[in-house]
Amino acid sequence: MKQRLSIGVLEARREAKLKQVRTAGPLMQGSLATIGVTCGNPRCRCARGRKHVSHILNSKVGGRSRSLYVPVDMVETVRQWVNEQRRVRRLLKEVSELGGRIVRAHVPSRRARARNRAVAARAAAKPKG
Ligand SMILES: [Zn+2]
Repeated sequence: MKQRLSIGVLEARREAKLKQVRTAGPLMQGSLATIGVTCGNPRCRCARGRKHVSHILNSKVGGRSRSLYVPVDMVETVRQWVNEQRRVRRLLKEVSELGGRIVRAHVPSRRARARNRAVAARAAAKPKG
């Protein structure tokens, strides 16, 4: 079980993650893969099995698989976008989890504050001397 942290600490952690989300760069859904392709020229090496390497980005759009051809000089850029997408998705998941922890900490925290107020009120009401 996770350590019970104060709402203030949880909110600070969430804010730090949101800050990273706000400063995110370009991002893109999918995963890069390389595939072997033939160019159609019967005299080319690819016709004898030594295929050309092609880069594609596989993704799911509305439950359907899609493949996008990525030009070789864009592969590193697209790789950065894909990595950024994963980083932001992870951060958003953590932001969501922290929201849940804040909700769960709310009632115990409210009870603790009420207890502290009651103790303070009793102490103030106690006759001096
Ligand atoms: Zn070829």
